[in-house]
Amino acid sequence: ITTEIIPEEDYVEKGLRPKSLREYIGQEKVKQNLKVFIEAAKKRKENLDHVLLYGPPGLGKTTLANIVAEEMGVSIKITSGPAIEKPGELAAILNNLSENDVLFIDEIHRLNRQVEEVLYPAMEDFAIDIVIGKGQGARSIRLDLPKFTLIGATTRAGMLSAPLRDRFGVVSRLEFYNVSELMQIIIRSAKVLGIEIDEEGAFELARRSRGTPRIANRLLRRVRDFAEVERKNNIDYNMAKDALDKLDVDSAGLDDTDRNIITTIIEKFGGGPVGVDTLAAAIGEDSGTIEEVYEPYLIKNGFINRTGRGRVVTDLCYDHFGLVNPAAQ
Ligand code: ADP
Repeated sequence: ITTEIIPEEDYVEKGLRPKSLREYIGQEKVKQNLKVFIEAAKKRKENLDHVLLYGPPGLGKTTLANIVAEEMGVSIKITSGPAIEKPGELAAILNNLSENDVLFIDEIHRLNRQVEEVLYPAMEDFAIDIVIGKGQGARSIRLDLPKFTLIGATTRAGMLSAPLRDRFGVVSRLEFYNVSELMQIIIRSAKVLGIEIDEEGAFELARRSRGTPRIANRLLRRVRDFAEVERKNNIDYNMAKDALDKLDVDSAGLDDTDRNIITTIIEKFGGGPVGVDTLAAAIGEDSGTIEEVYEPYLIKNGFINRTGRGRVVTDLCYDHFGLVNPAAQ
Protein backbone atom coordinates (compact mmCIF):
# COMPACT_ATOMS: atom_id res chain seq x y z
CA ILE A 1 0.00 0.00 0.00
CA THR A 2 1.32 3.41 -0.84
CA THR A 3 0.25 6.26 1.38
CA GLU A 4 1.66 9.14 -0.55
CA ILE A 5 -0.19 12.37 -0.09
CA ILE A 6 -1.01 13.87 -3.44
CA PRO A 7 -1.98 17.48 -3.84
CA GLU A 8 -5.40 18.17 -5.31
CA GLU A 9 -3.96 19.23 -8.68
CA ASP A 10 -2.01 15.99 -9.09
CA TYR A 11 -5.06 14.05 -8.06
CA VAL A 12 -7.18 15.68 -10.75
CA GLU A 13 -4.35 15.20 -13.25
CA LYS A 14 -4.25 11.47 -12.55
CA GLY A 15 -7.98 11.27 -13.14
CA LEU A 16 -7.56 12.85 -16.55
CA ARG A 17 -5.06 10.29 -17.79
CA PRO A 18 -6.23 8.21 -20.72
CA LYS A 19 -6.06 4.50 -19.93
CA SER A 20 -5.49 2.91 -23.33
CA LEU A 21 -3.51 3.60 -26.49
CA ARG A 22 -6.81 4.18 -28.27
CA GLU A 23 -7.69 7.04 -25.90
CA TYR A 24 -4.18 8.51 -26.01
CA ILE A 25 -4.34 11.39 -28.46
CA GLY A 26 -1.53 12.23 -30.89
CA GLN A 27 2.08 10.93 -30.89
CA GLU A 28 1.02 8.64 -33.75
CA LYS A 29 4.48 7.31 -34.57
CA VAL A 30 5.31 6.42 -30.98
CA LYS A 31 1.91 4.80 -30.52
CA GLN A 32 2.15 2.75 -33.71
CA ASN A 33 5.56 1.39 -32.77
CA LEU A 34 4.55 0.58 -29.22
CA LYS A 35 1.42 -1.16 -30.44
CA VAL A 36 3.49 -3.52 -32.60
CA PHE A 37 6.04 -4.22 -29.87
CA ILE A 38 3.34 -4.82 -27.25
CA GLU A 39 1.46 -7.22 -29.50
CA ALA A 40 4.63 -9.14 -30.34
CA ALA A 41 5.69 -9.39 -26.70
CA LYS A 42 2.24 -10.57 -25.68
CA LYS A 43 2.23 -13.22 -28.38
CA ARG A 44 5.58 -14.53 -27.18
CA LYS A 45 4.40 -14.20 -23.58
CA GLU A 46 7.57 -12.27 -22.89
CA ASN A 47 8.45 -8.97 -21.31
CA LEU A 48 8.42 -5.92 -23.58
CA ASP A 49 11.84 -4.53 -24.46
CA HIS A 50 13.03 -1.59 -22.32
CA VAL A 51 11.62 1.73 -23.48
CA LEU A 52 13.12 5.20 -23.15
CA LEU A 53 10.69 8.10 -23.56
CA TYR A 54 12.14 11.56 -23.85
CA GLY A 55 10.83 15.04 -24.43
CA PRO A 56 9.78 18.18 -22.57
CA PRO A 57 7.68 17.86 -19.39
CA GLY A 58 3.91 17.37 -19.57
CA LEU A 59 3.81 15.67 -22.97
CA GLY A 60 2.50 12.35 -21.65
CA LYS A 61 5.48 10.15 -20.76
CA THR A 62 4.08 8.94 -17.42
CA THR A 63 0.67 8.47 -19.00
CA LEU A 64 2.16 6.36 -21.76
CA ALA A 65 4.09 4.18 -19.28
CA ASN A 66 0.87 3.45 -17.40
CA ILE A 67 -0.87 2.62 -20.67
CA VAL A 68 1.90 0.22 -21.71
CA ALA A 69 1.47 -1.70 -18.43
CA GLU A 70 -2.29 -1.70 -18.86
CA GLU A 71 -2.07 -2.98 -22.45
CA MET A 72 0.48 -5.62 -21.46
CA GLY A 73 -1.83 -6.68 -18.62
CA VAL A 74 0.92 -6.29 -16.01
CA SER A 75 1.52 -4.15 -12.93
CA ILE A 76 3.54 -0.97 -12.92
CA LYS A 77 5.83 0.27 -10.19
CA ILE A 78 6.60 3.98 -10.37
CA THR A 79 9.67 5.72 -9.02
CA SER A 80 12.10 8.44 -10.04
CA GLY A 81 15.82 8.98 -10.43
CA PRO A 82 16.29 11.26 -7.43
CA ALA A 83 14.12 9.02 -5.19
CA ILE A 84 16.54 6.09 -5.38
CA GLU A 85 19.58 7.00 -3.33
CA LYS A 86 21.34 3.70 -2.77
CA PRO A 87 22.04 0.64 -4.95
CA GLY A 88 20.31 -1.53 -2.33
CA GLU A 89 17.09 0.44 -2.72
CA LEU A 90 17.01 -0.22 -6.45
CA ALA A 91 17.90 -3.88 -5.86
CA ALA A 92 14.92 -4.19 -3.50
CA ILE A 93 12.55 -2.59 -6.01
CA LEU A 94 13.78 -4.90 -8.79
CA ASN A 95 13.55 -7.96 -6.59
CA ASN A 96 9.93 -7.20 -5.74
CA LEU A 97 8.74 -7.05 -9.35
CA SER A 98 6.68 -9.86 -10.83
CA GLU A 99 7.39 -11.48 -14.17
CA ASN A 100 6.92 -9.02 -17.10
CA ASP A 101 6.04 -6.06 -14.83
CA VAL A 102 6.83 -2.50 -15.83
CA LEU A 103 9.22 -0.43 -13.75
CA PHE A 104 8.84 3.25 -14.55
CA ILE A 105 11.73 5.54 -13.59
CA ASP A 106 10.93 9.19 -14.15
CA GLU A 107 13.83 11.65 -14.48
CA ILE A 108 16.10 8.70 -15.12
CA HIS A 109 18.98 11.03 -16.00
CA ARG A 110 19.16 11.92 -12.31
CA LEU A 111 20.07 8.43 -11.08
CA ASN A 112 23.40 8.46 -9.33
CA ARG A 113 26.30 6.52 -10.72
CA GLN A 114 26.29 3.58 -8.29
CA VAL A 115 22.56 3.06 -8.66
CA GLU A 116 22.87 3.27 -12.43
CA GLU A 117 25.45 0.51 -12.39
CA VAL A 118 22.96 -1.85 -10.74
CA LEU A 119 20.67 -1.23 -13.69
CA TYR A 120 23.11 -2.46 -16.34
CA PRO A 121 23.08 -6.20 -15.50
CA ALA A 122 19.45 -5.90 -14.43
CA MET A 123 18.40 -4.61 -17.85
CA GLU A 124 20.67 -6.88 -19.82
CA ASP A 125 20.71 -10.20 -17.98
CA PHE A 126 17.85 -9.73 -15.48
CA ALA A 127 20.27 -10.22 -12.64
CA ILE A 128 22.00 -8.22 -9.96
CA ASP A 129 25.38 -8.82 -8.40
CA ILE A 130 25.52 -8.58 -4.66
CA VAL A 131 28.75 -8.40 -2.72
CA ILE A 132 28.75 -10.36 0.51
CA GLY A 133 31.32 -9.90 3.24
CA LYS A 134 34.22 -7.51 3.40
CA GLY A 135 37.89 -7.38 2.48
CA GLN A 136 39.64 -10.66 1.59
CA GLY A 137 36.58 -12.82 2.21
CA ALA A 138 34.24 -10.70 0.12
CA ARG A 139 32.57 -12.46 -2.76
CA SER A 140 29.96 -11.55 -5.26
CA ILE A 141 26.86 -13.58 -5.90
CA ARG A 142 24.46 -13.18 -8.75
CA LEU A 143 20.78 -12.93 -7.97
CA ASP A 144 18.29 -13.64 -10.74
CA LEU A 145 15.45 -11.19 -11.22
CA PRO A 146 12.08 -11.64 -12.86
CA LYS A 147 12.07 -10.47 -16.47
CA PHE A 148 10.69 -6.94 -16.51
CA THR A 149 10.36 -3.88 -18.71
CA LEU A 150 12.11 -0.72 -17.70
CA ILE A 151 10.44 2.43 -18.97
CA GLY A 152 12.67 5.42 -18.43
CA ALA A 153 11.51 8.99 -18.89
CA THR A 154 13.69 12.02 -19.26
CA THR A 155 13.46 15.60 -20.41
CA ARG A 156 17.20 15.54 -20.98
CA ALA A 157 18.18 12.71 -23.31
CA GLY A 158 21.59 14.31 -23.70
CA MET A 159 22.28 13.81 -20.00
CA LEU A 160 21.91 10.03 -20.14
CA SER A 161 25.15 8.09 -20.08
CA ALA A 162 25.88 6.09 -23.23
CA PRO A 163 25.89 2.68 -21.50
CA LEU A 164 22.44 3.36 -20.08
CA ARG A 165 21.00 4.74 -23.31
CA ASP A 166 22.35 1.77 -25.28
CA ARG A 167 20.46 -0.68 -23.11
CA PHE A 168 17.06 0.56 -24.21
CA GLY A 169 15.61 -1.41 -27.13
CA VAL A 170 13.05 1.27 -27.92
CA VAL A 171 13.88 4.97 -27.79
CA SER A 172 11.00 7.32 -28.53
CA ARG A 173 10.86 11.04 -28.57
CA LEU A 174 7.56 12.69 -27.70
CA GLU A 175 6.63 15.74 -29.76
CA PHE A 176 4.69 18.88 -28.93
CA TYR A 177 1.00 18.52 -29.78
CA ASN A 178 -0.67 20.52 -32.51
CA VAL A 179 -3.72 22.67 -31.86
CA SER A 180 -6.25 20.14 -33.14
CA GLU A 181 -4.80 17.39 -30.92
CA LEU A 182 -4.86 19.72 -27.92
CA MET A 183 -8.48 20.57 -28.71
CA GLN A 184 -9.37 16.88 -28.58
CA ILE A 185 -7.54 16.54 -25.26
CA ILE A 186 -9.31 19.60 -23.83
CA ILE A 187 -12.73 18.43 -24.99
CA ARG A 188 -12.08 14.99 -23.52
CA SER A 189 -10.89 16.44 -20.19
CA ALA A 190 -13.87 18.79 -20.07
CA LYS A 191 -16.17 15.80 -20.44
CA VAL A 192 -14.40 13.95 -17.63
CA LEU A 193 -14.58 17.01 -15.35
CA GLY A 194 -18.16 17.87 -16.31
CA ILE A 195 -17.25 21.22 -17.86
CA GLU A 196 -19.13 22.63 -20.85
CA ILE A 197 -16.88 24.10 -23.49
CA ASP A 198 -17.58 24.85 -27.13
CA GLU A 199 -15.25 24.44 -30.11
CA GLU A 200 -14.13 28.07 -30.17
CA GLY A 201 -13.41 28.02 -26.45
CA ALA A 202 -11.43 24.82 -26.81
CA PHE A 203 -9.54 26.25 -29.78
CA GLU A 204 -8.50 29.36 -27.85
CA LEU A 205 -7.28 27.23 -24.93
CA ALA A 206 -5.47 24.80 -27.23
CA ARG A 207 -3.70 27.62 -29.04
CA ARG A 208 -2.32 28.96 -25.80
CA SER A 209 -1.24 25.68 -24.20
CA ARG A 210 2.37 25.65 -25.40
CA GLY A 211 1.82 22.38 -27.27
CA THR A 212 1.54 20.61 -23.90
CA PRO A 213 -1.39 18.53 -22.56
CA ARG A 214 -0.52 19.19 -18.91
CA ILE A 215 -0.73 22.94 -19.54
CA ALA A 216 -3.95 22.51 -21.54
CA ASN A 217 -5.57 20.64 -18.64
CA ARG A 218 -4.33 23.17 -16.10
CA LEU A 219 -5.62 26.13 -18.12
CA LEU A 220 -8.96 24.39 -18.59
CA ARG A 221 -9.37 24.14 -14.80
CA ARG A 222 -8.34 27.76 -14.24
CA VAL A 223 -10.72 29.01 -16.93
CA ARG A 224 -13.47 26.95 -15.34
CA ASP A 225 -12.81 28.83 -12.06
CA PHE A 226 -13.35 32.15 -13.83
CA ALA A 227 -16.49 30.81 -15.52
CA GLU A 228 -17.91 29.62 -12.19
CA VAL A 229 -17.31 32.94 -10.46
CA GLU A 230 -19.01 34.69 -13.35
CA ARG A 231 -21.85 32.16 -13.24
CA LYS A 232 -21.34 31.11 -16.84
CA ASN A 233 -21.87 27.45 -17.47
CA ASN A 234 -20.30 27.30 -20.88
CA ILE A 235 -16.75 28.19 -21.84
CA ASP A 236 -16.91 29.95 -25.19
CA TYR A 237 -14.32 32.01 -27.05
CA ASN A 238 -14.88 35.20 -25.04
CA MET A 239 -14.86 33.42 -21.70
CA ALA A 240 -11.64 31.58 -22.59
CA LYS A 241 -9.94 34.67 -23.97
CA ASP A 242 -10.82 36.94 -21.02
CA ALA A 243 -9.74 34.37 -18.47
CA LEU A 244 -6.47 33.57 -20.25
CA ASP A 245 -5.67 37.27 -20.59
CA LYS A 246 -6.27 37.70 -16.85
CA LEU A 247 -3.97 34.71 -16.23
CA ASP A 248 -1.26 36.42 -18.29
CA VAL A 249 -1.14 33.56 -20.73
CA ASP A 250 0.40 34.80 -23.90
CA SER A 251 -1.56 34.38 -27.16
CA ALA A 252 1.14 31.92 -28.32
CA GLY A 253 1.20 30.16 -24.95
CA LEU A 254 4.67 31.41 -24.05
CA ASP A 255 5.50 31.29 -20.36
CA ASP A 256 7.75 33.51 -18.22
CA THR A 257 10.94 31.64 -19.03
CA ASP A 258 10.16 31.70 -22.76
CA ARG A 259 9.61 35.44 -22.58
CA ASN A 260 12.74 35.89 -20.51
CA ILE A 261 14.82 33.99 -23.07
CA ILE A 262 13.47 36.09 -25.91
CA THR A 263 13.68 39.49 -24.26
CA THR A 264 17.22 38.71 -23.08
CA ILE A 265 18.32 37.85 -26.63
CA ILE A 266 16.72 41.06 -27.89
CA GLU A 267 17.76 43.45 -25.14
CA LYS A 268 21.16 42.15 -24.11
CA PHE A 269 22.40 40.56 -27.30
CA GLY A 270 20.86 42.73 -30.00
CA GLY A 271 18.64 39.88 -31.20
CA GLY A 272 21.53 37.42 -31.46
CA PRO A 273 23.38 35.39 -32.45
CA VAL A 274 24.22 34.38 -28.92
CA GLY A 275 25.64 31.07 -27.75
CA VAL A 276 23.42 28.96 -25.52
CA ASP A 277 25.90 29.01 -22.62
CA THR A 278 26.15 32.80 -22.64
CA LEU A 279 22.37 33.03 -22.84
CA ALA A 280 21.98 30.55 -19.98
CA ALA A 281 24.35 32.54 -17.78
CA ALA A 282 22.47 35.76 -18.57
CA ILE A 283 19.11 34.41 -17.45
CA GLY A 284 20.39 32.11 -14.71
CA GLU A 285 19.07 28.90 -16.26
CA ASP A 286 20.89 25.69 -16.99
CA SER A 287 21.95 25.54 -20.65
CA GLY A 288 20.78 21.94 -21.07
CA THR A 289 17.34 22.88 -19.79
CA ILE A 290 17.16 25.75 -22.27
CA GLU A 291 18.18 23.41 -25.07
CA GLU A 292 15.93 20.50 -24.20
CA VAL A 293 12.94 22.04 -22.45
CA TYR A 294 12.42 25.60 -23.70
CA GLU A 295 14.10 25.97 -27.03
CA PRO A 296 12.31 23.13 -28.86
CA TYR A 297 8.96 24.92 -28.59
CA LEU A 298 10.40 28.31 -29.53
CA ILE A 299 12.18 26.86 -32.55
CA LYS A 300 9.23 24.76 -33.64
CA ASN A 301 7.02 27.83 -33.64
CA GLY A 302 9.50 30.01 -35.44
CA PHE A 303 10.37 32.40 -32.60
CA ILE A 304 14.07 31.67 -32.64
CA ASN A 305 16.49 30.04 -35.04
CA ARG A 306 19.52 27.98 -34.22
CA THR A 307 22.49 29.04 -36.35
CA GLY A 308 26.12 28.01 -36.41
CA ARG A 309 26.98 31.10 -34.39
CA GLY A 310 24.22 30.83 -31.84
CA ARG A 311 20.56 31.64 -31.32
CA VAL A 312 18.82 34.48 -33.15
CA VAL A 313 15.29 35.78 -32.73
CA THR A 314 13.14 35.92 -35.86
CA ASP A 315 11.02 38.67 -37.41
CA LEU A 316 7.95 36.75 -36.28
CA CYS A 317 9.29 37.00 -32.76
CA TYR A 318 9.79 40.76 -32.95
CA ASP A 319 6.24 41.01 -34.33
CA HIS A 320 4.84 38.94 -31.51
CA PHE A 321 6.38 41.26 -28.94
CA GLY A 322 5.27 44.36 -30.84
CA LEU A 323 8.84 45.29 -31.73
CA VAL A 324 10.63 45.95 -34.99
CA ASN A 325 13.74 44.01 -35.92
CA PRO A 326 16.43 46.73 -35.95
CA ALA A 327 18.24 44.81 -38.69
CA ALA A 328 15.23 45.18 -40.96
CA GLN A 329 15.10 48.99 -40.68
P1 ADP B 1 5.03 13.73 -18.50
O1 ADP B 1 5.21 12.44 -17.76
O2 ADP B 1 5.58 13.70 -19.88
O3 ADP B 1 5.52 14.93 -17.73
P2 ADP B 1 2.20 13.20 -18.07
O4 ADP B 1 2.10 11.82 -18.59
O5 ADP B 1 2.21 13.36 -16.59
O6 ADP B 1 3.46 13.96 -18.71
O7 ADP B 1 0.98 14.02 -18.71
C1 ADP B 1 0.47 15.20 -18.14
C2 ADP B 1 -1.05 15.23 -18.26
O8 ADP B 1 -1.38 15.46 -19.61
C3 ADP B 1 -1.71 13.93 -17.86
O9 ADP B 1 -2.45 14.09 -16.69
C4 ADP B 1 -2.69 13.60 -18.95
O10 ADP B 1 -4.00 13.82 -18.51
C5 ADP B 1 -2.43 14.59 -20.05
N1 ADP B 1 -1.99 13.91 -21.29
C6 ADP B 1 -0.70 13.72 -21.67
N2 ADP B 1 -0.65 13.13 -22.88
C7 ADP B 1 -1.92 12.97 -23.27
C8 ADP B 1 -2.51 12.42 -24.47
N3 ADP B 1 -1.75 11.96 -25.47
N4 ADP B 1 -3.85 12.37 -24.54
C9 ADP B 1 -4.60 12.86 -23.54
N5 ADP B 1 -4.11 13.39 -22.40
C10 ADP B 1 -2.79 13.45 -22.26
